[in-house]
Order: sequence, then structure tokens, then C-alpha cells
Amino acid sequence: MVPSAYVHIPFCDSICAYCDFVRIQKNEQFFSSWKDTLIQEIKEYKIENLHTLYFGGGTPSLLDVEDFISIRNCFPDSIDEFTVECNPESLDKDKLDAYVSLGVNRISLGVQSFKDDLLKICNRKHTSDQAKTVIQMIQSSGIHNFSIDLIFGLPNQTMEDVKKDIDTFLNLDIPHLSIYSLQIEENSIFGKTGVEPIDSDLEADMFEYITKTLEAAGYIHYEISSFCKPGYYSKHNLAYWQDKDFYGFGCGASGRIDGIRYDNTTSLKEYCVKGPQAIYISETLAERGMDAIMMALRTKFGLNIKEWNLKYQNDFKNHYATVLDKYHEYFLYDSDRVFLNDAGLEILNTILVDFMMIE
Ligand code: SF4
Repeated sequence: MVPSAYVHIPFCDSICAYCDFVRIQKNEQFFSSWKDTLIQEIKEYKIENLHTLYFGGGTPSLLDVEDFISIRNCFPDSIDEFTVECNPESLDKDKLDAYVSLGVNRISLGVQSFKDDLLKICNRKHTSDQAKTVIQMIQSSGIHNFSIDLIFGLPNQTMEDVKKDIDTFLNLDIPHLSIYSLQIEENSIFGKTGVEPIDSDLEADMFEYITKTLEAAGYIHYEISSFCKPGYYSKHNLAYWQDKDFYGFGCGASGRIDGIRYDNTTSLKEYCVKGPQAIYISETLAERGMDAIMMALRTKFGLNIKEWNLKYQNDFKNHYATVLDKYHEYFLYDSDRVFLNDAGLEILNTILVDFMMIE
């Protein structure tokens, strides 16, 4: 059984300056054939059981309740974790009440910053006050499991700004945070207008501050960019990091079935006319094993060596002995698992490059 499903809702009201995801300004011309194609794509799989469902985007909260219902009804009624990504300006009480009645039990809210001038630089369409109001609305809706996204390393952002964002986050008593350092992507507005990344030492200091402050406040740093109170892990994201299969539905979605990854078309027009046009990625067993290592080492749960050896017909400790030895002070072992300590997570990319050098 494939335990998880991701549905990509590619529409946005406006385009954020840092974003290069597959997203399109909401487009009446294509909307109804997009929806019909999506429903047909999902229904072909006749899914009877699902552990986690994630509506991401784009901006899923842009969907009218009626459209949301017709997509949601393609899935089983009972789902352990059902997350919807929302933006503050497109979420209101009626929509939230509808989500609750439809089994949504987790919200991921794009806040990015609590500082209005930084929100403007990012071309976000909400203010800090709007985000706080929506957070309180979520808290009184009965959805206790929710997360916000923040970004650090934005143009003009100071250490003081980051401290205030973390302070506000803690005061609002939110159970989960995903926090990313700004990456200047070539195809984003920032990339095209020549915005420069902030100083790398400042960025490292910001991340150190974030990590230490949140851990001191009782949050678990369970994945490089993810912090939560005990019990509030994102089960859906854990499926990606723990080498599970997942359906990817919609224009711009990716999925993995029987260990084989696929990418749907990113062209809305093509999706509407020809369907998902999934391209399957051909990978050897060794390459898939490498993917599993790269994902697992991002988390504090690490990699289950025994399971990996069995699944990828290899001997992890022997095969990667030189890397494990070179970085021995960063690796921790606990029964069958290997994982990185905090210092190791900070240099994860460097360590992974060495893993990838091993044939
Ligand atoms: S960050 Fe989210 S809301 Fe902004 S353009 Fe990208 S997908 Fe849309």
C-alpha cells in the first residue's frame, strides 16, 4: 500500500519574490479542466486507505470550498493526518470550519516573517497582523496540530529581526515550525533582479540562534528545517524522509510508487489537454539507496541500517566505511540506527557529497 498522497494545487494570487515552485496566477481559462483532470488522475488509483494526505502548492487555500470538496472526496474519509497549506490572506473562518468538517487536522501556514517591510520585499500579500489573526483563528478552530513557515536570511534582515520573529513564534504558542534560509533561485524574482545572498557567517549565526532558542523552549529539532513540540512531527514529511512511497497528483507534482520516482508535467496547458504525462525516473538500486541515505540523514531519526541493508542489498557500514570514519565525530549510533549530531547536521551537504563519491 502507498501510505501517503500529495496533491499539488498550482495556483497563487501573486508571485512571491523568492519562489520558483510550480505556480501560476489563478487562471479561470484552465481552472475547470485542471480540476477535472486532477479528479480523474486521482480516481484512477481507487485509493481505499491512506495514512497521510497533503494539499500543497501553490496556494491550496485559494480553492473555493466547493472545489476543495470535490478534490477531497476522491480520497477515503478517514485519514490519519490531512494537511492543507494555507496563506493568511486566503483563509477565513468559513473555510476553516469547512476544512474541519472535511477531516483536515493539520494546517501549514505560510507566514515567512512577522515584519511588514520584509513581507513587502517578498511580495507577500498579507501583513503580520493578518497572520497573527489567522493563527488565533486556527487555534480556536479545533485544529491543534499546525505549523507555520518562516524564512531567514532575507535581504535587509538583521539578527534583531530574526530574534523578534522567533520571539513572536514562541509567544503565539505554535506547535511546529518549518524555517528555511533564503535560497536565491535563478527563476525567482530575487534571482532575476540580482538580489545577493546575505553574509554566510551572519546566516550561520542566525541559524544557531534559532536552533538554540527553540531547543531551550522545548522544541525538538527533528529535521534540518523542522522544529516541533513533542508529538507534533509532520507525519507526511516523515514519509518522504523515511523512504516511503507516496502518490503525487496534479500539475507539477512528484510521486514515488514501488520505489520508482516520477514527475508530472509542469505545464498547466499540457496537463489539462493530455493529462499528467508522468515521467518516470530511471534509477539503479544503488542510486535509490543513496536517495534514502540523503533523506534519512536530514532527520534526528537517521537511517535504519538493518532495513537499508535488506532493501538495497548492500552492507551500509562496510560500503561507506571511509565516510563513516572520516566524519566519525558527527555520527551517532543507536541499536540499528545511524544519525548525525547537531554539528553533523550543520555540515550535512559536505558529508553527503562524500557519500555520493562512493560507487
Ligand atoms: S511561495 Fe507559495 S504563495 Fe508564494 S508564489 Fe510560491 S507557491 Fe505561491
